[in-house]
Amino acid sequence: MDEQTEKSPPKQKAVTPGRSIDIYAAQCEKCLKWRKIDTQELYEEIRSKILENPFACEKKEGISCRDAGDLEYDSSRTWVIDKPGLPKTPRGFKRSLVLRKDYSKMDAYYITPTGKKLRTRNEIAAFIDANQDYKNAPLGDFNFTVPKVMEDTIPCGMSGRTPKRSKDGLPID
Ligand SMILES: [Zn+2]
Repeated sequence: MDEQTEKSPPKQKAVTPGRSIDIYAAQCEKCLKWRKIDTQELYEEIRSKILENPFACEKKEGISCRDAGDLEYDSSRTWVIDKPGLPKTPRGFKRSLVLRKDYSKMDAYYITPTGKKLRTRNEIAAFIDANQDYKNAPLGDFNFTVPKVMEDTIPCGMSGRTPKRSKDGLPID
């Protein structure tokens, strides 16, 4: 997903109409099939290193490029594509992403080990400052970069971003 050409990202996540992520997936760099990644933690691990260490089918135990893919990139679910190389969420914290109702974008926030929701870098810094137990959590590992919502996978009737038009009336993207 993280962003190669947009159509064949190194990895991405899929979200349901419930508007939070329900499936994580990574794309094999060789056969381009999508493999389900079982947990957010594992997904974040793969994502954090995907630039140096591209994902491939055989990283899933017992799986090779000869096996059928786990899921297809299509509009049966909404896909969002992460930026490659985003850091893993610091231990004890949870990173959450919620899709806006109009499918225009996702919003990111962190939940602290004490259950507090933090929505900005300043809130994170203040929390770490006030809670010395977590002072080892690297501030740089909190990242609010959100995945790109793939417009060709949003439900009919949901427009997402308003399409921009060039001077001659053709869609720009
Ligand atoms: Zn493969």
